Amino acid sequence: MFEKILIANRGEIAVRIIRSCKELGIRTVAVYSEADANSMHVQMADEAICIGRAPSSESYLRVDRLISAAEIADVDAIHPGYGFLSENPHFADVCEKCNIRFIGPSSRAMNALQDKAVSRELAKKAGVPVPPGSDGVVETETEALATAKKIGYPVLIKAIAGGGGRGMRIAHNDISLVKGYHTARNEAEKAFGNSGVYIEKYFENPHHIEFQILADQRGNIVHFGERDCSIQRRHQKLIEETPSPLIENKFKDLRKKMGKAAVRIAEIAQYNSTGTVEFIVDDQGNFYFLEVNKRIQVEHPITEEVTGTDLIRLQILIAMGEPLKLSQGDVHFRGHSIECRINAEDPFDDFRPSPGRIEMYYAPGGRGVRVDSHAYAGYVIPSSYDSMIGKLITYGRDRREAIDRMSRALGEYMITGIKTTIAFEQMILQDPDFRRGVYSTGFIEQLMRRGTQ
Ligand code: ADP
Ligand code: ADP
Ligand code: MG
Repeated sequence: MFEKILIANRGEIAVRIIRSCKELGIRTVAVYSEADANSMHVQMADEAICIGRAPSSESYLRVDRLISAAEIADVDAIHPGYGFLSENPHFADVCEKCNIRFIGPSSRAMNALQDKAVSRELAKKAGVPVPPGSDGVVETETEALATAKKIGYPVLIKAIAGGGGRGMRIAHNDISLVKGYHTARNEAEKAFGNSGVYIEKYFENPHHIEFQILADQRGNIVHFGERDCSIQRRHQKLIEETPSPLIENKFKDLRKKMGKAAVRIAEIAQYNSTGTVEFIVDDQGNFYFLEVNKRIQVEHPITEEVTGTDLIRLQILIAMGEPLKLSQGDVHFRGHSIECRINAEDPFDDFRPSPGRIEMYYAPGGRGVRVDSHAYAGYVIPSSYDSMIGKLITYGRDRREAIDRMSRALGEYMITGIKTTIAFEQMILQDPDFRRGVYSTGFIEQLMRRGTQ
């Protein structure tokens, strides 16, 4: 049994992890940057250690400082949360070498799924469809042109090390392809320290549907159903829901097929933690593998709500070596759940971040409402990190009830002093197409265009 865990993260996910630890009777150690001294995770943990200055490259991304903190606090394990070092096989490796358990997949499983072009090949091997595209990394301009010719325009140039919706470029013809190829490589080098890119068919207005998987150290793997994350801004999720209206209303048999595909990929990669297999789905019900997120995800609470589980608790138990005590038939789904990411940004100014001091703060409550957040009145949102300051999650017996409840809860959520996405999300919830469950990844762009006409 772990007695003490260090959380190598900040914000709402650090708070979320501390909550599960407390219920398990595990003591917690928070780490924080100088900018986060007044952050809620520091208050909530049993101990807290400052690990450096505000930029994440000088704090949350410093492997040496995290390991020193873990050794000083004498912890049994490190939970990396999401973002930062959560998908860094080197960090997982260093933890293991220092005899500190890394709460996530083994560095070997992580390595197998690290590079997006390599993951594509792995999915192919598993018999799972991938978007038509290049065989691995595209090394030259000529190769890029030949790939585009083979699959047809539009195409998407993607960084093999990309993430967080960054490192992607659409090309509609040879000229924009050549230009995009070089810019994408340069940008990828700067953003991810890796200039490798590959090319995929660009699907117009597809659906983003992902499957939550859970695998233990002994080869037991189950999936916990899907999440529809098609409501995105700049390829980043804003609203997520489960079950997916596309699957429920149009392609009922997809749940079984895609779930099987997700489990098959986890099997081949010898995956051994919680993870997410992401797909895009077209209007004909064809699905294609995108990538595996080798960590707990932002939107995990909606799965918890409809399956009645604590995914972080399970993730910790698995890391401790406990076997999964359930098989696929034991996973039951009940009702409907939606999540709105509450970001400190201005949706009407291109989602520009809006850091600063929260003046007034009142979080919604009542039946079927859950708030995962580190925000409070007087909290100063630092400009150095992600702009997400919380997540509002609702549960209902059916989709209609979950939406009505979300709308009610968004209306109660009061945050002043900064700009937030709340009013914008309220608008999405009133949209007739959203209400009917008819939307794709192009939804927000279409909504904005209609708004300016
Ligand atoms: P999820 O699928 O869990 O919603 P996101 O793609 O939104 O994941 O990423 C979760 C967090 O991790 C966000 O803060 C995002 O900015 C960050 N993130 C994910 N991948 C990367 C990456 N490769 N580089 C930088 N930040 C990343
Ligand atoms: P990231 O690592 O940034 O999460 P993903 O490959 O998961 O990158 O893609 C993020 C989003 O970009 C998807 O949810 C989808 O909206 C869009 N996208 C990715 N690949 C394609 C594609 N081939 N065609 C159309 N949209 C895509
Ligand atoms: Mg993704």
